Amino acid sequence: MEAIKIKNITKEIKLDINKIRKDFPILHQDVNGKSLVYFDNAATTQKPLVVINGLDDYYKGINANIHRGIHTLAERATASFEATRDSLKTFINAKHREEVIFTRGTTESINLVAATFGRQNIKAGDEILISSMEHHSNIVPWHMLAAEKGAVVKIIPINEQGEIILEEYEKLLSSKTKLVAVVHVSNALGTINPVKTIIELAHKHGAKVLIDGAQSSSHLDIDVQAIGADFFALSGHKMYGPTGIGILYGKKELLEAMPPYQGGGEMIGEVTYTGFTVNELPYKFEAGTPNIADAVALKYAIEYIQSIGKAAIRKHENDLLSYATKSISQLEGIRLIGTAKEKVSILSFVMEGVHHQDLGILLDQNGIAIRTGHHCTQPLMNRLGISGTSRASFALYNTTEEIDIFIEGMKKASKMLR
Ligand code: PMP
Repeated sequence: MEAIKIKNITKEIKLDINKIRKDFPILHQDVNGKSLVYFDNAATTQKPLVVINGLDDYYKGINANIHRGIHTLAERATASFEATRDSLKTFINAKHREEVIFTRGTTESINLVAATFGRQNIKAGDEILISSMEHHSNIVPWHMLAAEKGAVVKIIPINEQGEIILEEYEKLLSSKTKLVAVVHVSNALGTINPVKTIIELAHKHGAKVLIDGAQSSSHLDIDVQAIGADFFALSGHKMYGPTGIGILYGKKELLEAMPPYQGGGEMIGEVTYTGFTVNELPYKFEAGTPNIADAVALKYAIEYIQSIGKAAIRKHENDLLSYATKSISQLEGIRLIGTAKEKVSILSFVMEGVHHQDLGILLDQNGIAIRTGHHCTQPLMNRLGISGTSRASFALYNTTEEIDIFIEGMKKASKMLR
C-alpha cells in the first residue's frame, strides 16, 4: 500500500481522500448509470486493496490448517493467523493476547458470552440491563438466556436526542444486576455512549459489562483497559476487513472461569471415550477450523486504519457529518433521528410523508446506496414511534461532493414522492 500523507497543520489533520479512494476499487463503478455513492458503511465498509490482496496472497501462498500441522505451510498459516491476534490485542489495548478470541463477529461474540458466562452466572430473578438503542444481536441472546433461567431483561431509557439517561440507568442498578450489555456506538442513531461511566457504575454494583463495539471500532480509539470493559465485541467487516471474522475480548480471569462455548477440535486438552479436558485460552473458545483466511486479511485492515490514524479518520468523518447534517436540514420535511451531542458519522432521518423504502429505491436508481428500515433495532423504532428511518453512514473514503449528489437525489426524490 502506498503511504498516505497526513498533513498535520497544528490542529488540522487533512486526508488525501483521492488517494484513499484509489485504495478501494469497488468505489469506482457506475450503478444504474451513475457513479456509485456508497453511504451504507454502518452496514458494512468497503475493503481496501491491501485486504483484498491479503486474501488472495493467503490462498495462493499460505493456505493450510493451523496449530496442529508441522509442515511449512501449516506453520506459515498459524503464524499469520496468530499475528492478527497480536494486532487486535494492540488495536483494542488488551492486556493479554489470550484475551482476544476469534469469532464470526459481534453477533457470535455476544452469543458466546450469553451461552457461557450467562448460563454459568445468571440465575432466576437476576437482572440483565440493556439500553433502548441495542441492535437485535445485543437483545435476543439476553431474551433467550432470561427465558431459560427465569432472569429479567431491563431497559435503560434514552432521551429524545437518543442519549442514555444516566440517572435512570443508575436507578436500575442493584445487587440483582448481573450483567449490563450496552452498545458503544448506536448503528441506528450514531450516538456514542459514555461507556466508561456506564461500566464504572455497573462495577459499583458488582455487575459485569459487555460492550458491543460493532460500530465504534472503525471510528473511535478502542481501549478496553481504559474503559474497564469486561467483554468487548467487534466485527472485522465494519472496519474495512472481511466478513465472517471478528472477536470477543474478555478479561482473562473471566474467560478462564467460563465454560467452553462449542465442543470440537482445538478447544480440548485431552479427549477420552468418557470425557475431555479443556484447552488453555484463547483456544478453549475456538473449536473447529476457524475462518483463517479472513482472520489473516483482517490484519491488513487494522494496519490500514493505523496507517491513516483514527484521529484523522474521525476528523474527516466528523466534517462529513456536519456538512451532511447542515445540508439535509435545509430540505423541507426532514426530521433527524438521533441528535446526540456525541455522534459518529451516521445520519438517520425521516422524510415526512415518504416511506423510507421508496426513498431508498429512488436514491438507488441514482447510484446512491443508503440503508432504510429498522436497522435491526425494532424496539428502538417502537420507542421512537416510527417504523424505520433512512440512514446515510459515512466512512473515511466519502466526500462532500458525494453528499452534494445525495442531497440532489433527495430533492429529486422528494418532488417525485410527495
Ligand atoms: N451491533 C451493532 C451495533 C451493529 O451495528 C451490528 C451490525 N449491524 C451488530 C451488532 C452485529 O454485527 P454482525 O452482524 O457483524 O455480527
